Amino acid sequence: MGEFDLIDRFFHRPARRAVVGVGDDCAVLQPTAGRQLTISTDLLVEGRHFLPTVDPYRLGHKALAVNLSDLAACGADPHSFLLSLSLPESKARPSFLKPFSQGMLALADLHGIELIGGDTTSGPLTIGVTVLGEVPTGQALLRSGAQEGDELWVSGTPGEARLALEVFRGKLSLPESGFNTARLAMEMPQPRVALGQALRGVATAAIDISDGLIGDLNHIMAQSDVGAIIELARMPRTPVLTVQTVNVQRLCQLAGGDDYELLFTAPPDRHDVVLAIGRRLGLKLTVIGRMVSAEEGVRVRDEFGHPIDLGDYGGFDHFKAE
Ligand code: ADP
Ligand code: MG
Repeated sequence: MGEFDLIDRFFHRPARRAVVGVGDDCAVLQPTAGRQLTISTDLLVEGRHFLPTVDPYRLGHKALAVNLSDLAACGADPHSFLLSLSLPESKARPSFLKPFSQGMLALADLHGIELIGGDTTSGPLTIGVTVLGEVPTGQALLRSGAQEGDELWVSGTPGEARLALEVFRGKLSLPESGFNTARLAMEMPQPRVALGQALRGVATAAIDISDGLIGDLNHIMAQSDVGAIIELARMPRTPVLTVQTVNVQRLCQLAGGDDYELLFTAPPDRHDVVLAIGRRLGLKLTVIGRMVSAEEGVRVRDEFGHPIDLGDYGGFDHFKAE
């Protein structure tokens, strides 16, 4: 199958929101008056960000999901996306491309966004997605707005994706049902787009948990110039995680990335507003701590109020030895 056939067959759909979509030298978009563009890009490399054995439908979903998660963290309304693909010969085939594009386009439809272009080349399997979104001018949620005294919130129940990764690495074993649950969290993350949108004007700072809760919290702390105290006892846990040893629970909750939940801060007087957002969206939102002065740094207290050593939970860094 040639490059153009392949694009036509799997990635070319009629433009809806774009003035011109796939098929010309550029996509053409009409910016909305009074709104700002938000743009983010993420690259997924086989063996680095996903296992060679992953189901292509789930891979298509995840490649777009991790990008939508960045829009969610900014409180943006998703608009459209670009897809750059490097495909080995073994993958430039319908057996891979059909489920891959279906997984990706199903998630795109769920969020009302369209594929407006990209690039396709042969090479090792690498997937680059760029998403575009919009926010009302000045309302993007940033990492830099957290204030001392704000409550620190997390959505969902982070930790399962890391649990699945540990099983794939052969470091843990789980009963089949638990493994399937954890694996779904890892392979089919649900970007918290509606939450991000609802938090505009409510949250003071937000980030999506891609590299681990503590690592991502560090970005908010550095850019907002604040510190944080987390009460481990308040961290929400799913049943799959609850039955693990304390060490595994902590590793998954504090250092486990890849969950794509949102970590955000909001003033205590917005507490009930945030809870109401969670109820409306059917999404668990939990206060896990509060923001303190920058000099206090980050502290995590165990069930007895004792500080735990954060040495091992710093967050994922591709260029740091593991
Ligand atoms: P050019 O040579 O101008 O870079 P291409 O031949 O690479 O154009 O692409 C032709 C059209 O197909 C363009 O509109 C481009 O955006 C689109 N396209 C290429 N690859 C993809 C892809 N993987 N998904 C969606 N659109 C794509
Ligand atoms: Mg090109």
